[in-house]
Amino acid sequence: MTDWLSDRNGLLHAEDVPLSAIAARFGTPAYVYSRSAIATAFEEFARAAAGRRALVCYALKANSNLAIIDLLARAGAGFDIVSGGELKRVLAAGGDPAKVVFSGVGKSEAEIRLALEHSVRCFNVESESELRRLSAIASATGKRANVSLRVNPDVDAGTHPYISTGLRQNKFGIAHDAALAVYREAAKLPGIAVVGIDCHIGSQITELAPFVAAMDKVIELAGALSREGIALEHLDLGGGLGIRYDDEQPPSRAAMLAAVFERIDSSPVVRDLEVMFEFGRSIVGNAGLLLTRVEYLKANSDKRFAIVDAAMNDLMRPALYEAYHRIVPVARNPGAASRYDVVGPVCESGDWLGRDRDLAINEGDLLAILSAGAYGMAMSSNYNTRPRPAEVMVEGSRVHLIRDRETVESLYALERRLPA
Ligand SMILES: *Cc1c(COP(=O)(O)O)cnc(C)c1O
Repeated sequence: MTDWLSDRNGLLHAEDVPLSAIAARFGTPAYVYSRSAIATAFEEFARAAAGRRALVCYALKANSNLAIIDLLARAGAGFDIVSGGELKRVLAAGGDPAKVVFSGVGKSEAEIRLALEHSVRCFNVESESELRRLSAIASATGKRANVSLRVNPDVDAGTHPYISTGLRQNKFGIAHDAALAVYREAAKLPGIAVVGIDCHIGSQITELAPFVAAMDKVIELAGALSREGIALEHLDLGGGLGIRYDDEQPPSRAAMLAAVFERIDSSPVVRDLEVMFEFGRSIVGNAGLLLTRVEYLKANSDKRFAIVDAAMNDLMRPALYEAYHRIVPVARNPGAASRYDVVGPVCESGDWLGRDRDLAINEGDLLAILSAGAYGMAMSSNYNTRPRPAEVMVEGSRVHLIRDRETVESLYALERRLPA
């Protein structure tokens, strides 16, 4: 079990707070995060990079709540953003735009202007067209945009196809063999300052080999650039380090960084460059859970169902990727376990949160759906006019409400009836 969770006299606690107390005070479903778990995860990266020129960015899209950004900004993190909206979140949470890298395949003109206005650290550019647009906008406003090209190293990350991004058939980045030509063009464009190389090969990667393979491609390209007189200031190796949902054994944060630094130190071309990372899941994934209550138990001739008050709109990963999340009762029950599909109330057969789980539960019991801190709330929707859950962060015996539960009225507040 994640170390911020403990069973105390048969009752599951988040840090020092019984989850039943959180449910009583804030209702269910609710996302619960641990401040210390988030801080510790970031510190592990920071410690592994200590004494080096390195910037560990947090990839906001994993969970963009202002409290989480605030906490990580105070710890010294940079930020990887994929939209103008995410930049505004960083600013609203007190983050420093000079530590922001802007990724994404489809940056709009308005987003580029916003990012230039705030002088973000670097644009991770994903196509020639984007490069030209960026140069034109920057020159027109008398600026130069710092640019890394996101290179697609054609490396198999060995992860789910929907979260694999570094293969030739993916929409991301510039093909490795085309990158040199695009760099040559970038070096000539008036609004562009070439500063780095970027790659990000996918998410929930549980082995070191794909990272090392991608890095070798990046280092090779850095060598070719250097021979052409295109000097770089940094390498950005993206994110993607996996976490344990079930029985995965991903490398530790320290081992991941050590492997990267070892490779870098042995290459004279890149040894003196700053190194950047963009981790999302590995900072917040195991630091959050979704707290839900069993509404009904139901059985047919084949199966038993535990129908809970959380659903695919609150946590989409199972429906989208058939992702596995551990599900544990909040209060230990003396009864025998039965095998359930844990499902939500949404009108879709894809609305399940866990399949074939052995649980000793009764109607009204609370369940904790673990490892839901990344790509949980961030991917939630209002499908079926379901207000999104409250979000709380525990800190020792204190509980901070970091997002109110949505009201139904707010869901249609922007809508208008037709004229009479
Ligand atoms: C999503 C994303 C990340 C973070 O990925 P994790 O698997 O959550 O670490 C980093 N960089 C880019 C460009 C991304 O799109």
